[in-house]
Amino acid sequence: MENEKTIYEFDMALISEYYSKLKRQGIGSPEMTIKALSFIDGLTEKSKIADIGCGTGGQTMVIAQNTRGNITAIDNLPDFITIVNDNAKAANLQTRVYGIAGSMDKLPFGSEELDLIWCEGAVYNIGFERGLIEWKKFLKKSGFIAITDASWITEERPQEIEDYWVHHYPEITTIANNVSVMQKSGYIPVSVFIMPDNCWTDNYFAPQIPIQEEFLKKYSGNKTVEEFIEGCRHEEEMYHKYKDYYGYIFYIGRKC
Ligand code: SAH
Repeated sequence: MENEKTIYEFDMALISEYYSKLKRQGIGSPEMTIKALSFIDGLTEKSKIADIGCGTGGQTMVIAQNTRGNITAIDNLPDFITIVNDNAKAANLQTRVYGIAGSMDKLPFGSEELDLIWCEGAVYNIGFERGLIEWKKFLKKSGFIAITDASWITEERPQEIEDYWVHHYPEITTIANNVSVMQKSGYIPVSVFIMPDNCWTDNYFAPQIPIQEEFLKKYSGNKTVEEFIEGCRHEEEMYHKYKDYYGYIFYIGRKC
């Protein structure tokens, strides 16, 4: 699968349509978002929270329902932001949740404005280390950051899975290395935990299956769609075959 395309090489309209149909676009669960929140203290109704790469806002609503304060949810796909804002309104959270379209490498925040930066399943777009370093200036002293990212959970692994991940996310490294990166970037590592299997299987892969069927019918004969879905299915196969070697990890840190 050396020639397998990365997600950026596909038509963004297609990506947007596919993932808009899902409650979440990444690996996770409400339980794990709540668990990560349990390590964060000191939030009040005045707190400012950013949810970066929010997708359609699966975790944004969980953060809103389990904290006080205002949440700015940012994603570079405007269709996702429309869904975030519609869902916020439906949950009567529109005074505390603001979805805005924008890029994580040009965040619209002022210096030391934020109490908490959240980023589930999205930092790989600029890389774990770059995210930690570039976003730090927006955090108040002692503010928190909570990021999930794919990481190796063992020291060694079979070549096939090494090649797969290095192709899709060359910066992938071990949990130990990422904790060291967090510390060297000026954060106290507060907690690190591996997301359980259901965050991948029940919440990420299973909901995609009916959408894949629907897409293959709707776009019958479209090579781009077929290739894209083949890539999604390959991601699932790799997970079942090699999940003992990698996982999605919650990294929580506090700005020094
Ligand atoms: N946090 C959500 C979505 C994760 S998927 C969840 O866990 O369900 C990754 C998200 O990052 C996608 O919604 C994608 O549109 C967004 N993204 C990709 N590049 C981005 C960028 N440069 N700036 C902001 N968001 C970006």
